[in-house]
Amino acid sequence: MIHRQLFKVIQLKQPLVRLTLIWRTLTCLAILSCSPYTWAETVDSIEETFVLLESGKVIAPKELQQRLTYLKANITADDIVKYRRLQRALCWSADAFDPDKRAEGLKFVQQQLTSALITPSAETMADLKLCRGWFYQFSGQVELALEEYNQVVATAYQLESPRLIADARGLRGAMHSFQGNYASALEDLFTAQQLYESLNLTIWSQYNLAEIATSYRRFGDPQTAYKYYEKLALLFTQSGDLELAAGMTTEVAIALDELGENEAALDKYLQSYHYWQQQGDELAMSFVAVNLAGTLIKLDQIDEAITYLDFAKNHVEPTEEAFYSFMMLFRAQISFLDKKPQAALPFLQQAKSAFKRVKNDRGLSQLYILESQIHANLANWKQAYYSLEQYIELHNQLDIKQQSHRTTEMRTRFNTKQIEIENTQLIEKQEVKERELQILQQNRYLQFTVIFLAMIVIINISFFAYKQAQKSKLLEILALTDHLTQLPNRRHAYTLGERYFSESASLSLILFDADHFKKINDRFGHDVGDQALTSLANIANAMMRQSDLVGRVGGEEFLVLLPNTNLQQAKEIAERLVKAIAKSDLSEINTELSITISAGVASREQDKSFSELFQRADNALYLAKSSGRNCAKSA
Ligand code: GH3
Ligand code: MG
Ligand code: MG
Repeated sequence: MIHRQLFKVIQLKQPLVRLTLIWRTLTCLAILSCSPYTWAETVDSIEETFVLLESGKVIAPKELQQRLTYLKANITADDIVKYRRLQRALCWSADAFDPDKRAEGLKFVQQQLTSALITPSAETMADLKLCRGWFYQFSGQVELALEEYNQVVATAYQLESPRLIADARGLRGAMHSFQGNYASALEDLFTAQQLYESLNLTIWSQYNLAEIATSYRRFGDPQTAYKYYEKLALLFTQSGDLELAAGMTTEVAIALDELGENEAALDKYLQSYHYWQQQGDELAMSFVAVNLAGTLIKLDQIDEAITYLDFAKNHVEPTEEAFYSFMMLFRAQISFLDKKPQAALPFLQQAKSAFKRVKNDRGLSQLYILESQIHANLANWKQAYYSLEQYIELHNQLDIKQQSHRTTEMRTRFNTKQIEIENTQLIEKQEVKERELQILQQNRYLQFTVIFLAMIVIINISFFAYKQAQKSKLLEILALTDHLTQLPNRRHAYTLGERYFSESASLSLILFDADHFKKINDRFGHDVGDQALTSLANIANAMMRQSDLVGRVGGEEFLVLLPNTNLQQAKEIAERLVKAIAKSDLSEINTELSITISAGVASREQDKSFSELFQRADNALYLAKSSGRNCAKSA
């Protein structure tokens, strides 16, 4: 929850003249930017910003907006956890005092509560509902707010979320307290207090403690209230939250006042009055001034009281009932003390209607007794009697209330131990849940790691398999290729020949063989022979078409497959080949080297198989050999 402390401004509307810590937040928001500090978005990370917003620290509106803008710019719906967290932050950051902003906030929260991105998260839903309750409360729909709070408290327990329980019960407790249901108020507030402290949510625990203190004071235990306020004033001073500290000092003064320690109260009032004076905050000064006047009257320092009231008069409007009512009451009192009872009556009237508007019975009871005195002074006996009667009636009511509150408080205190045990269990459960979540997270990492490793293994295997495939491909190529000439070897040439034979109706073959190669080897050596064979292969290969194929089918014997070629064409090719080889320049190998070939040509006719065709080519070759070599013959 963010800026939930704003809620406490409701206390301003309460029948008590006092300056609450919350009031500062209100002025901050209303006046806009009470701090000259401008937040630089680059320095903070998203997480840090969230932590700050959720800490409950009072943030100037300008900075708050900057931070929210930063979050909105950097969080997308893809990151669902942060996205939900942001929606909560946005809801709690709405200025609930401003009716327009509140209406906007209410609209926003209604939308969120039906958003598909939000509904799956029970915790987010609950927090947003709490926020909606808070808006309801501010718009005066107290019943609706209470209903919402009750529901969220129930959900929070189901979810076993200590933070949510603390927030929901803190809010509900404050509202109970405001409505005068102290038993429920204290039970809620004690629970929230214990949880905030266990969760180390310092600022929230302080706000909540202020709420507890106020509840004590409201039901007539200024002593306890004083104790807590003092503690808080010290804490806020230590943490450098001087505005909050000044607010608490005012609370301390009020408690002292109620304890009858007027001198001490005066001291404290002056302390916070001077603080606001230093800040140049005249409205805050005026609120304290009203309180100051009340104490000064009790101390019989009427002139000074008048000075403060005159100052306050310029700033406190009738809509500020809490202060306006007492300001009028004190003016009436001063007029009466100044022996001007007639002049006191209009003030009294103003005060009475203000007290009644906010149902401040305690203020009213003070008023009635003064009214009775004034009427008596004016010899309006009947009215004096009537006022006194009202005073007594109200006083009795207050007494009864107070009595029951005391019993309540005793019972609640007795219950505190139980609350503590329950809360401790809750926190422990929460810790277990967090650990489980951590383990889950770790498992997720583990899963990720396993997947990652598996992927590496798969990649390796694939790579290996690929290499292996390449290798076997290579082996296959090696198996089909002749070493020396890089031509398809006999096996391959035959396989291809069979394939061509099955595919093409007009297939011709040239089978050629080097003439007297034995002699070449004998004369030039085997090495030269090899080179000569390579040259033969190259010459033949170069002369053929792309679709033709030259293979080495024997030591110095080659086969040419000529698809889509008739006998006539094949014979011409063979003759060209024979001539080309006979003319070829092999001087690079050996200056005296020359070579000829004999070729046999056959074209597919009635052949039933490739080998039949091959046989005919071989016959033709034999014919060429026997015809004197260096020539081509057809079958
Ligand atoms: P003909 O004109 O009747 O074919 O006479 P020829 O000597 O070529 O025929 P023959 O079949 O008697 O001899 C073939 C020779 O080819 C025998 C062998 O030494 C040689 N020869 C076969 N393969 C290779 C080879 O890879 N390299 C070398 N240098 N010589 C080879
Ligand atoms: Mg030969
Ligand atoms: Mg031969």
